[in-house]
Amino acid sequence: MKYFFILIFISLALSIMAEDVLTLQGNATQGGIMVGKVSSKVEKIFLDYQEIPLMENIFLIGFDRDSKLRHILTLVMQNGQMETTELLLTKREYETQRIDNIPPEYLEEPTDKDVINRIERESATLQEFRKNIHNNQFIYLDDFTIPVENGKVTGIFGSNRILNGIPVSPHNGLDIAAPLGTDIKSMATGVVALTGDYFYNGKFVLIDHGCGLSSIYIHMSTISIEKGDYVLKGDKIGEVGSTGRSTGNHLHWGISWKGERIDPALITKQNNILFKFSNIVGTD
Ligand SMILES: [Zn+2]
Repeated sequence: MKYFFILIFISLALSIMAEDVLTLQGNATQGGIMVGKVSSKVEKIFLDYQEIPLMENIFLIGFDRDSKLRHILTLVMQNGQMETTELLLTKREYETQRIDNIPPEYLEEPTDKDVINRIERESATLQEFRKNIHNNQFIYLDDFTIPVENGKVTGIFGSNRILNGIPVSPHNGLDIAAPLGTDIKSMATGVVALTGDYFYNGKFVLIDHGCGLSSIYIHMSTISIEKGDYVLKGDKIGEVGSTGRSTGNHLHWGISWKGERIDPALITKQNNILFKFSNIVGTD
């Protein structure tokens, strides 16, 4: 009973000292995203001194695979006052995945000039479309779903890869193996930013979820939506395949926030891990 009164006292004291100016939930770790809410008194928000899109009172922030652990959030209030708080992330340990006996043609860099040009063109197009995603401020976020149900995870985010004994760049997505033709669903509501059939990606779909967040689905066998389509969370966007540079039927699912590489496996746990800061910023 005493404890109960103390709790009430603390929460009353906090609400007098500082109302909920900022709350954050999600994964405060490398590769994680967090959804934040600010009070109506907040006009602008900055992460590490860079302004973050604020949609009404909601915003999104994300942290790269190799993000530094200490970040600064700055709130600019309507009265011009500034409030700053520190956000500390936990450090991730990434596994090393060794895969041997991959047929060499899956690893070799192309030497054909036309193919090299094609790869450059495709990479430039994708980059251009990703830039536009950073400008789209609208948040289509409700929550997230796994794009392929009952699949087998064959590759995890962030892993250091050694393919046929040679170290290659870390894996930036989640690989889910599933039979050819298995439905692929959009992880969240959004707008289809780009579709294509690229040398490395094969058939792919890039979806803009707003406020810098995008998801990409690659190596698909078929695509069932078009650029500009509005999709709801869980809507079918295509089917699992092995197009592009892929050694078997699987979905490579990637997520990005303003160019930061985000871990899809954390996204699906977003609602379970309720990481909430309340009253961390004083109004006086
Ligand atoms: Zn992959």
